[in-house]
Amino acid sequence: MPDASALVAQTDPFALVRELEGKHLIDGKLVGPATGKTFDVLNPANLQVIGQAAEGEAEDVDRAVQAAARVQKAWAATPARERGKLIAACGRLLEQHKEELAKLVALETGKALRTESRVEAGVLADAFVFYGGLASELKGESVPFNPDMLTVTTREPIGVVGAIIPWNVPMMLMAFKIAPALVAGNAVVVKSAEEAPYAVLRICQIMNQVLPKGLFNLLSGFGPECGQPLVAHPKVGKVTFTGSVEAGKAVYRTAAEKLIPVTLELGGKSPMIVMADADLDKAVAGAIAGMRFTRQGQSCTAASRIYVHRSIRHSFVDALKTKVDALVMGDPLDEKTDIGTIVSQQQFERVKSYIAQGEAEGGTAHRCSALPADAALSQGYYVQPVIFTELKENSRLVGEEIFGPVACVLDFDGYEEVLQRANASEYGLAATVWTRDLHTALDATKRLEAGFVQVNQNLVVMPNLSYGGVKHSGLGKEASLEAMLEHFTHKKTIIFNMQ
Ligand code: ADP
Repeated sequence: MPDASALVAQTDPFALVRELEGKHLIDGKLVGPATGKTFDVLNPANLQVIGQAAEGEAEDVDRAVQAAARVQKAWAATPARERGKLIAACGRLLEQHKEELAKLVALETGKALRTESRVEAGVLADAFVFYGGLASELKGESVPFNPDMLTVTTREPIGVVGAIIPWNVPMMLMAFKIAPALVAGNAVVVKSAEEAPYAVLRICQIMNQVLPKGLFNLLSGFGPECGQPLVAHPKVGKVTFTGSVEAGKAVYRTAAEKLIPVTLELGGKSPMIVMADADLDKAVAGAIAGMRFTRQGQSCTAASRIYVHRSIRHSFVDALKTKVDALVMGDPLDEKTDIGTIVSQQQFERVKSYIAQGEAEGGTAHRCSALPADAALSQGYYVQPVIFTELKENSRLVGEEIFGPVACVLDFDGYEEVLQRANASEYGLAATVWTRDLHTALDATKRLEAGFVQVNQNLVVMPNLSYGGVKHSGLGKEASLEAMLEHFTHKKTIIFNMQ
């Protein structure tokens, strides 16, 4: 294994940005974009420019994909357990860099260091260790086809995988894509999100100390100019995408022209059903965790439609307001901060326009917590968490993904009614039900139309749990052994005629 001690942990995120800015990582090296073009990356807490990012286009994509294709066959020919050991070693190496990665992602995304960014950096490292250990599970089957013929299936890598990632949990979502792809014997080219190019580039730099050159390449740039050429490149055999429904459809259309498989993790509008017999304290804590208030609600899994039985609705809303009020908004890098900022001006305006519309429709917006008093943060993209009540079921706020700290609390009277309302969504990513009644819980888990259903809890995504939605929430699964086998390999059937 090459010397992994070359990169020392650097906890000053600005120093890291100076080292990484304006660069892609292609074929093991930090390189500038072919066109020389770069774009500004802002700190959403004070709107100051943190640095520049390389503006990748088709030529950069081609260089990265060619480098990946050159190394992929040798990587696929490496024994699976050796690949796994190297990927697990990457996880342990990333663990040593956890703090710097947490600070870097907090700086570029505005996510609070203590409640969000550090947690993400931990899951990231764990995902590589987890998948590294699964290498020998890349098994085939023996098939009882004909006694005179030995019939087996094998799992073959696809080749070069293109991964397009979003800004909300960029490190973790990248890990869930590339760890299984690499262990399965593929090479990868990742395109980062415009808003968050640095932490993932640093991860790529760290991993490139131990991985063969060209195996993991990372480009920054915009969706149409850099993401699309990656999907369209003739040597990319699989695309895994997380982002909006609209961009996901564009990716799917381009991939369809090449007839290549895609995994799409798209939006959500996840219902949380709180029955009259629920444990109220647990349900309130679950609403805070589920709504991802500490991430400003910027999660596709956010429990943003909270259906509460009419008999407990007032006590639920009061308790929720009290708890959310206690969360501290502030500088994302400050240890005291629970809630940081919205990621960008575009999202900031979007979230505010939804809140204005909800109020114009007659909804009551309970604004919680307090905007930071610090004058240095006065320009930052801070939005107070909002708990909406009195909204109509057909409101846009109830139907559409806001991707901000806006929870819609709606009341209901009957179980059948609430189940029908919960399922009347174009999305189907996650859902939770809160009840002490076993029959109701079991029935709801069967009938809720979502890929991830939980009872009396609202946990986040884990490396070992299969995750993915139905309807407009996407195609295919991420995380777990299943994702590696089903989405980063193809199955080959082999028959030996023994006669
Ligand atoms: P958001 O609105 O939350 O930024 P997007 O879907 O626009 O979500 O972005 C998620 C990721 O998809 C980003 O890396 C972005 O650059 C990329 N992207 C956006 N549009 C396209 C597209 N047409 N083709 C490929 N990638 C895209």
